[in-house]
Amino acid sequence: MTTPGFLLPHWYDLHAHFRQEELLAPLVQAHLAMGCCGIVAMPNTRPPVTRVMASEAGEGWSIETYRQQLLHAANGRLEQVIVPLYLSATTTPQQIAAGAASGLLQAAKYYPPHGTTGAQSAIPLEQLISNGVIAELERHDLILCLHGEAHGLEGERYFDRDTHAEELFYRQQLPTLVERFPRLRIVAEHLTSRVGVEMVRQAGPQVAATITPQHLLYTVGHLLQNLKYHLYCLPLVKFQEDRQALRAAVTAADNRQFFAGTDSAPHTHKVTPCGCAAGCFTGGIAPQLYAEAFEQAGIALDEPAGQQTLRRFLVENGANFYRLPIATQQMRLWREPNRVEPLATPAGVITPLPVGIGPDCHEGAATLNWRLEIDA
Ligand SMILES: [Zn+2]
Repeated sequence: MTTPGFLLPHWYDLHAHFRQEELLAPLVQAHLAMGCCGIVAMPNTRPPVTRVMASEAGEGWSIETYRQQLLHAANGRLEQVIVPLYLSATTTPQQIAAGAASGLLQAAKYYPPHGTTGAQSAIPLEQLISNGVIAELERHDLILCLHGEAHGLEGERYFDRDTHAEELFYRQQLPTLVERFPRLRIVAEHLTSRVGVEMVRQAGPQVAATITPQHLLYTVGHLLQNLKYHLYCLPLVKFQEDRQALRAAVTAADNRQFFAGTDSAPHTHKVTPCGCAAGCFTGGIAPQLYAEAFEQAGIALDEPAGQQTLRRFLVENGANFYRLPIATQQMRLWREPNRVEPLATPAGVITPLPVGIGPDCHEGAATLNWRLEIDA
């Protein structure tokens, strides 16, 4: 009997949240369990990662400290850990230059002020342009990671039939950024919309985008029908035409700009007195979800050409953009129904995304169509 499925190298999750303290180790382990050999760990911790070196003055956390904690939690099994610097009111061009010289600073993250979880310390992009920080990122060939949503919008403009915060951001801000900083490498993180895809494509090869499993699998209708709040993340899942554009982007034969970044974001208390915490947890199961999404997009994963399409998105494009080596270790994906259940951690239970969405939700579980073995 032949072994079912197909092999892929281990991969990089180029956008994920690992939190801190007692959550950190189980979250890193969940990423290792899905064949991750490297991560871009987001800096919207408490306090945020607003310093590069631990010796720098300031109140935030440092890349140096957080990175060491992540490497320690992985017990030698993560080869690459990139922590972007959280761009805040305290960020200076001098800090960017010193950080680049140290080798610790490889990327920086723009958050829309108050626009998502942990975005209270962010400042508007215009300010980061006028104070010289963005120019310094370009000068040192560092990556600017964007949470691309317009900020400060009232509800009716935030998400409307004609437009929404992500569209507004990419239409207004990305062309300006690319024109003023033509060599700046930019990652449009967790892209969700047709307009976003078009703007990234138009911007050219120095601009790329990560796409999450949930935005390839679901639409806002799935979120609203019975208010499936486990699917609530920011930017929101959008409409069918948006999902179609994302699927077309990731499955295109010439795709080099779009790659995997789960935005996996755990919440032990998803529902709060103020509403719902934004973020979907896909640690442990993201390759399986991406495979499901590629199949739904019409990619034949039984055939080498289809497998190559998934490989470009999951393994190659992101590594190339971040200039990371392709892993030599391999994992195997094959079609076989299996159950996924909530993850117990010392800080509380975390519900992975498909749990609570599908027909098994009353059992507190979900069925995946794909299975993963990481030592293949
Ligand atoms: Zn995120």
